[in-house]
Amino acid sequence: MSSINIAIDGPAGAGKSTVAKGIAKKLGYIYVDTGALYRAIGVFALRKGINTKDADGVSAVLKDITVELKFVDGVQKVFLCGEDVSIEIRTPEASMAASNVSAIPAVRAFLLDLQRDIAKKNNCLMDGRDIGTVVLPDAQIKIFMTADVEERAMRRYKELQEKGINDSYEQVLEEMKERDYQDSNRPIAPLKPAEDSVIFDSTGHTLEQSIDELSALIGEKI
Ligand code: C5P
Repeated sequence: MSSINIAIDGPAGAGKSTVAKGIAKKLGYIYVDTGALYRAIGVFALRKGINTKDADGVSAVLKDITVELKFVDGVQKVFLCGEDVSIEIRTPEASMAASNVSAIPAVRAFLLDLQRDIAKKNNCLMDGRDIGTVVLPDAQIKIFMTADVEERAMRRYKELQEKGINDSYEQVLEEMKERDYQDSNRPIAPLKPAEDSVIFDSTGHTLEQSIDELSALIGEKI
């Protein structure tokens, strides 16, 4: 029996991960956060002192990298060369590094089969930028989740504060705009809604409202 795959794409801070986690739990599916894979590669490059925009430099070290996702009690952990880097990948530096390395074609090719393999073996909600357009073009349901950039930046700012990272709101907003621009304008797998996706704007919604509305929408389709 083939698995059921739900693709959730959209810009940073739209609420994809929290909402997808909530829905995955309700459905008993796994939640796959593909951004973590790009973050792990970004962290590897940062640790090695490689410029994360240097396509040749980053491509050359891919042969030294293993990235794995493991699901412990439904929670995703990311392993870089056998080391659990699930916390280290969440810093603002890792966000920018991820956005930089993700524009490199060799990096995207390196991570493609791993993502498809998980989706083939599991009923899942997969969250990213190109899941509905490139990774899982045959996903049964595709959602493109977005929200106003100021609101997304405020959500991210609060998340960082909770983690003890004290970047200012203005700084978070600027980085978010830069990442949006970079992710949407790269030549390979740019952030854009799949033609057959449902656009969901979470501006002004609480997370509970978004989870309820999207659960209802998904429930109608599967
Ligand atoms: O989703 P998250 O913010 O963790 O993603 C970090 C970065 O990884 C994004 O800004 C984007 O550049 C890249 N990414 C991607 N394709 C995906 C998931 C993430 O290019 N499927």
